[in-house]
Amino acid sequence: MRRLARRDGVNVALLDRLGTELYGRRTTTGLRRDLVVSGAQGPTLGVDGETLVNLASNDYLGLAGDPEVLDAARRALRDGGLGVAAGRVLCGTREVHRELEASIADLVGAEDAVLYGSCFDANLGVFDALLGPDDVVLSDALNHASLIDGIRLARARRRVFAHADLDDLERRLAESADARHRLIVTDGVFSMDGDVAALPRLCELARRHDAALLVDDSHATGVLGATGAGTAEHFGLAGRIDVLTGTLGKALGGGAGGFVAGPRPVVETLRQVSRPYIFTNAMSPPLAAAALTAIRVARERPGLRERLAANTARLRAALRDLGYEVPPGEHPIVPVMLRGGTLACDVAAALRREGVLAFALSHPVVPLGEERIRVQVSAAHTADQLELAAAAFGRARAGAAGS
Ligand SMILES: *Cc1c(COP(=O)(O)O)cnc(C)c1O
Repeated sequence: MRRLARRDGVNVALLDRLGTELYGRRTTTGLRRDLVVSGAQGPTLGVDGETLVNLASNDYLGLAGDPEVLDAARRALRDGGLGVAAGRVLCGTREVHRELEASIADLVGAEDAVLYGSCFDANLGVFDALLGPDDVVLSDALNHASLIDGIRLARARRRVFAHADLDDLERRLAESADARHRLIVTDGVFSMDGDVAALPRLCELARRHDAALLVDDSHATGVLGATGAGTAEHFGLAGRIDVLTGTLGKALGGGAGGFVAGPRPVVETLRQVSRPYIFTNAMSPPLAAAALTAIRVARERPGLRERLAANTARLRAALRDLGYEVPPGEHPIVPVMLRGGTLACDVAAALRREGVLAFALSHPVVPLGEERIRVQVSAAHTADQLELAAAAFGRARAGAAGS
């Protein structure tokens, strides 16, 4: 690595503090090191010259490598270039942005939708735009980091309810009856456990207390529901959520981008005042074209979701047969509980030696004693790849014990 020859003009006190903190981190939790992967995202991945079965991506429908999706991006690149070098509100809006927004709204059953650079941006931009200091946000304790940050940026008051505890939520709704608006906020599918929010009861609570409901459906758009409309469709409630946020970076092609969908006044307000919509570059047209095609493909091929469900059921059953603790669920996020100490990390390392990529989640990402390996299944996995993965899990525990 290139070293700085001199540090004139650099604040040494800042660098010293960061160096000390990084040293502390390295000796306690260890530092994150990003894995460098070669080749395209798919059911297998190249790592260090090896091909691994990929149980770690959000490419649930296998559309990141879909030829139609990639062709759409290539055509858009050829016809319109890579980027627009302008914000949406100036000269950055192209026809493909409007088409993609209409297609998202149609998919989820909303009146309109607005694009952001990512769902992280969407979540940063939605709360402050819609709410003020007289309002209260009620947020599930396990909501995604971007929701937590977006709520922090808003001037509304914040109340956190225990994860999926609707009695706790109802108490907090009753306590905040003086607010102008109450907005209940939840992930549609929670990323650590793959558990699905109880939307029927949440909708009922919201209605009874005259509150609104915002669902971040990043892990569910394209995945859950007969047409891939997400968690609401899964429960027969499509189009009944006040505000929906989601990503184009997971099942819908894995490129990048986020959105907020909802009634026209919500979406129009965001276009007028939402800062991560206004003060940033417009989405690259090839990415927008890819996402537009991914949504069409995801809707036209319900077989993808059937295949995903079958693959998920198959791997869940195989892991249970091996004696692993797999909490009940249907989502392709499959938590494999390996509680205590470094067991989850050891098993993940053993899996890697067996040619399988899956990550261990340990404290502080999950509570102590809740350590697990998170497996993510794709419709693109073949029966052979899933069998190889299960066999590797079978040997990995013994390998971890011996390592
Ligand atoms: C992945 C994820 C995001 C972030 O989406 P990006 O488009 O990658 O920024 C936000 N919310 C939830 C619930 C997610 O799972």
